[in-house]
Amino acid sequence: MTTTAVRHGLSFDIEEAFHALNMWSVTPPDTWADQDSRVEAVTDRILALLDAHDVRATFFVLGLVAERTPGVVTRIVEAGHELGSHGYSHRMAGDLGQEGFEQDVRRARGLLQDISGEPVDGFRASTFSIGKGTRWALPVLAHAGHTWDSSVFPVRHDRYGDPVFPWHAVHLDIPDAPPLREYPLLTRPALGRRWPAAGGGYLRLLPLRLVDGALERSEAGGEPGIIYLHPWELDHEQPRHALGGLRTFRHYFGIERVEAKLSRLLERHAFGPIGEVPVPEDRRLDPMTLA
Ligand SMILES: [Zn+2]
Repeated sequence: MTTTAVRHGLSFDIEEAFHALNMWSVTPPDTWADQDSRVEAVTDRILALLDAHDVRATFFVLGLVAERTPGVVTRIVEAGHELGSHGYSHRMAGDLGQEGFEQDVRRARGLLQDISGEPVDGFRASTFSIGKGTRWALPVLAHAGHTWDSSVFPVRHDRYGDPVFPWHAVHLDIPDAPPLREYPLLTRPALGRRWPAAGGGYLRLLPLRLVDGALERSEAGGEPGIIYLHPWELDHEQPRHALGGLRTFRHYFGIERVEAKLSRLLERHAFGPIGEVPVPEDRRLDPMTLA
């Protein structure tokens, strides 16, 4: 165990495998109600793993999951973890548009608060879809009652990303609302830019030492990193679909090794819920002034 004062933010986006964007070609949204649910069993495994390591985390639960399997929400809260919202429908912010996004956000938050009986402060957008072109989503979150967000991936990627956004957590100034804390996902610098290192797909695809090294580097700089994972990324028994080249690689590669890799990270670094990660007061930003 590394001795360090830095406690990283650990998070799980609680959704079914078929909710992932890579799967929509074989399991489109109109088939979701008929698909087998596996999220409850895998979430239980995650809860047991965290309990064994005595670690608390943030669970961003999708509204559709909360509706179909509300027991997932109650067990997360009963185990003492932080409940966050992953939106209702798993559609990306840009596809929903401002009005649709607002409805989606409010519906999910209301549902999660009704089931848990607790205020839901944190949010994560589907597929990290808040960034350049969708920064209007940030004031929408603040006005819907969220006090922090972790949806911005400050990298270049074919599907998401906001390469000009700061790579560390900031207070965002929002007109007519309290400031919103933004916790961007962990990146690592190399070759003059920043690259994703945040867990999830990257924990599956990259050698463990790269993710581990990115966390160590953050610790050395006194900067907590934000890590994410999906339950389906730990579900090596899930039914396999023929998705085609890149999609198959992105969805299935390395699943059987993720649990061991996560355990290793939990042994080597300190983690906690994202909402408890402190953000220095002098880090303020008006998101609308970004290029
Ligand atoms: Zn998701």
